[in-house]
Amino acid sequence: MTATMTREAPVELSAVEPLIELSAVVKVYRTGKLEYPALRGVDLSIDAGEMVAVVGPSGSGKSTIMNMITGIDRPTDGSVTVDGQQIHLLSEEQLAAWRGRNVGIVFQFFQLLPTLTAVENAMLPLDFARQVPKRDRREIARHNLELVSLGDKLDHLPSELSGGEQQRVAIARALASDPKLIIGDEPTGNLDTQTAAEMFQLLRRLNDEGKTVLYVTHDLELAARAGRVVTIRDGLVVDQ
Ligand code: ADP
Repeated sequence: MTATMTREAPVELSAVEPLIELSAVVKVYRTGKLEYPALRGVDLSIDAGEMVAVVGPSGSGKSTIMNMITGIDRPTDGSVTVDGQQIHLLSEEQLAAWRGRNVGIVFQFFQLLPTLTAVENAMLPLDFARQVPKRDRREIARHNLELVSLGDKLDHLPSELSGGEQQRVAIARALASDPKLIIGDEPTGNLDTQTAAEMFQLLRRLNDEGKTVLYVTHDLELAARAGRVVTIRDGLVVDQ
């Protein structure tokens, strides 16, 4: 070993930044003159590579937290840092571009475009981002549909697919720009128990392959199988 090399600073594991950091996040919804504090000072830190389930009663603020992390909505106060980017400081336009590159989102009701085929739905984020040449987009979408075992249904419309298959298309779409972070807002909430378990396995596999996975669920059994469970109550993290 050379003298130069020995002088290099050692890697300090404790200095590694978390992938997601919410600090004193407050979100107040205003409807006319009414104010509703949906988040009342949330601190939450999630490391790269974690698989985290978010649970809590209906109305406790779970979706609101997810919307803070994906930048779908903004905090009234506090800060949200994801992969080193303080996303609460970005403009709407910057946020949309940031989200397209860095986060894959899966919703309860799939939200596929009904007139587009599976492969066209799975290409959509790439069509929006326009960073990948057009000829490569279909190939990436096809690859991601194969990853979720839908390689034989590329040209099916959503109406020709089961609920579980539609959710797998949504996962393929979430993988389009190869994001580090996969966020699910009740991704298994509209699926039967067996299909929900398969969906969980798929999220687990993505986590094993290095994605950080964060999902809201009502299913305490599926939550218990995550690496960590975060419980929200009345707009606060009460247990993590
Ligand atoms: P959860 O996902 O845990 O069911 P949400 O995060 O959706 O809870 O909502 C938290 C609280 O904020 C609820 O009381 C809900 O009614 C309220 N809320 C959510 N979105 C809005 C909104 N856009 N305007 C007003 N109130 C809202």
